[in-house]
Amino acid sequence: MDLLSTLVEKGLRRELPTREEALAVLSSSDDDLLDVVAAAGRVRRQWFGRRVKLNYLVNLKSGLCPEDCSYCSQRLGSTAGILKYTWLKPDEASQAAAAGVAGGAKRVCLVASGRGPTDRDVDRVSKTIAAIKEQNEGVEVCACLGLLSQGQAERLRDAGADAYNHNLNTSEETYGQITTTHTYEDRVDTVQQAQAAGLSACSGLIAGMGESDKDLVDVVFALRGLDPDSVPVNFLIPFEGTPLAKEWNLTPQRCLRILAMVRFVCPDVEVRLAGGREVHLRSLQPLALHLVNSIFLGDYLTSEGQAGQVDLDMIADAGFEVEGAGTTTLPEHRAGGGCGSICADAGDHGADSTGCGGTAQPGGARAGCGERSTADTAPEPAPVAAEVAQGAEPGPRAPRTDLVTVRRRGAGTDLAPNA
Ligand code: SF4
Repeated sequence: MDLLSTLVEKGLRRELPTREEALAVLSSSDDDLLDVVAAAGRVRRQWFGRRVKLNYLVNLKSGLCPEDCSYCSQRLGSTAGILKYTWLKPDEASQAAAAGVAGGAKRVCLVASGRGPTDRDVDRVSKTIAAIKEQNEGVEVCACLGLLSQGQAERLRDAGADAYNHNLNTSEETYGQITTTHTYEDRVDTVQQAQAAGLSACSGLIAGMGESDKDLVDVVFALRGLDPDSVPVNFLIPFEGTPLAKEWNLTPQRCLRILAMVRFVCPDVEVRLAGGREVHLRSLQPLALHLVNSIFLGDYLTSEGQAGQVDLDMIADAGFEVEGAGTTTLPEHRAGGGCGSICADAGDHGADSTGCGGTAQPGGARAGCGERSTADTAPEPAPVAAEVAQGAEPGPRAPRTDLVTVRRRGAGTDLAPNA
């Protein structure tokens, strides 16, 4: 496909594809799937080699959220049978984090449900960051606490936080259908506050909420404009007891096309495969390693992941290697700023379709993941519409509710964490 050659060339040059090219990736046929993965894999290897960064989630405070994010098992009115608890003590959180670090995680993501932290919450999290850093030398810490108020990002940075996560989740156009208690602009503002404070920004999306291909392209282009260091891609985990419980729209092939599109649009950014990996990619998970350079180890915020050792075996079997603590994740030209860092369960509040995050304007002022726009470069390639397969998506599949397991171990329980 000429389309794929064009996308590889652009990815290797860190050049923004056109929206039509991004849409064409999403609508490509299953017959072309391995070609799409191979092409995006070339871009992935150019900037990240065969390294896989491992991240570990610690849910500091679970459930009981006053916000109404439809995808989230912790939302207002959720009847999902998740763990509910208030703030973990710093030593409890540190103990949970240590399990992830021992399993190979170089980043710990501290997540708390809620609209946003109070100043007292920021104090608590600051103590937790200190406890984790004292016990685990060199570990990166990312906070994911919801919408930030003035000065809180600076306080987290001063407490030792390396990064802040807040996801955009979906397109600006459809955001109001997913959440009514805060806005897309609120999310953008928080990501920008984190960036202004010098924190590495992590902001991503959730796919599978009934959005269109255009919505997916819109949110990924918005992320590129926002220029986070890392972009977590969550696949909706349709929890029973939430408004999106019936949204079983994803196939493993669709997930791979989405990840490939994100890689082409954000070629040199840490693209992280987040919540929903096991549920939706299933036996095709190893193929996704050719597209993403980062995953979560073990469990998510409110749902269980596969065993940590299974993750490690999968990485080794697929011919990849766990990124060591002494290696800088981002390519040299991005180190110290730009697209690349955290998050978790398909949501903002981390990675299981739970989620607090932020936004940017498509084609906004910042160049985003990759520095050149099409305006800098050669003429557009020939129209790709002819290459777009017709009717590529096979339509909804049977729900796999058997694959959704509420987390009952690790943080907030007496049972050992999965790492
Ligand atoms: S995503 Fe965050 S803010 Fe939204 S309902 Fe869940 S925990 Fe609350």
